[in-house]
Amino acid sequence: MQIIDHPTNSHHMMLRISKPLLLASIIFNFDSVYAAWLRKSKLVCILLIFGCSQFSIFNSATAQDSSYARRIIRDLSSPEMYGRGMQHRGDSIAAEYLRQELRTLGVKPLPAGRNVSAKDEYFQYFRFPNTRTTPPIVKAGYRSQNVCGYIPGATDTMIVFTAHYEHLGMSGDTIFYGAHDNASGTAAVLDLARQLITHHSSFNTKYTYVFLFFGGEESGLIGSGYFADMPLIKLNKVKFLMNIDLFCGGDEGLMVVNANAPETKPYVDLLERLNEERHYAAKVGRRDNAPNSDHWFLSQECPAVFLYTLGGPFGGYHSPTDTCEGCGLGNYMNFMTLLRVFLEHIEN
Ligand SMILES: [Zn+2]
Repeated sequence: MQIIDHPTNSHHMMLRISKPLLLASIIFNFDSVYAAWLRKSKLVCILLIFGCSQFSIFNSATAQDSSYARRIIRDLSSPEMYGRGMQHRGDSIAAEYLRQELRTLGVKPLPAGRNVSAKDEYFQYFRFPNTRTTPPIVKAGYRSQNVCGYIPGATDTMIVFTAHYEHLGMSGDTIFYGAHDNASGTAAVLDLARQLITHHSSFNTKYTYVFLFFGGEESGLIGSGYFADMPLIKLNKVKFLMNIDLFCGGDEGLMVVNANAPETKPYVDLLERLNEERHYAAKVGRRDNAPNSDHWFLSQECPAVFLYTLGGPFGGYHSPTDTCEGCGLGNYMNFMTLLRVFLEHIEN
């Protein structure tokens, strides 16, 4: 893999010019201003993009092993998070943890371009509906939040990664730790953000990368449904969205839901082909769309798939045995490498 650590001066210049316009255009309707600027700088862009063909978008120094993911899974599934549900506001404790992690990594907050106080940065609040949820694990009207950030790229076309960070919470004194479901997917999405951030500039990619951590998934996709209704980004600018939910284990490979729709099929074909060539996972399976995770409402607005692992080892599913200790990460680095290679192909 080729790394460009020192972009040319002209590259730097383009980045400096484009940044404010880009940030504004993500949220506000400055499309025409942005389009005019893009037209002017089209030649520069073409030269830069094709002149630097096959450049790496990842910071190879941070892609050493699975220890970062292990730490995130351990922290999120610790007793101090109370199973990341309603009891003791475990979901909000986890959301605060994610916000600190995004800040530390240098991922920018959504909503962008507004004066938001530090206590509201990265958060999109929503309330649970007044109807009884199934299973009834959250009180009607309970307030939770999605945690949202992004890394700007050279264009405002977006690639989005999502994962639900909350879990079932507690039943009496019993904690449902939710390491596999879905501390593991949350860790993978954070890890991708971490690896996309470079030491020199976060502005290393053609596309803008968005990271969404949803609440309310276990109660019926409430956080992601809210985001689809009240998006903080322009969903028609999303090139591709991948939701990761259940990412431990994987001895039997990976499964992609919504793999066969016309708008997602080319991406899943690419993922499958790369895996067949290089054998990162035992297989990449395919399923038609189903409302079984947070990609569901968003898949009606943009090309969106849901990725999960097949086979163990993991401690359990919707059980108090779903702990960090049971969460096998033996396949994790191979899966992450597959995702990195996949993104390199989309970028180039
Ligand atoms: Zn889940």
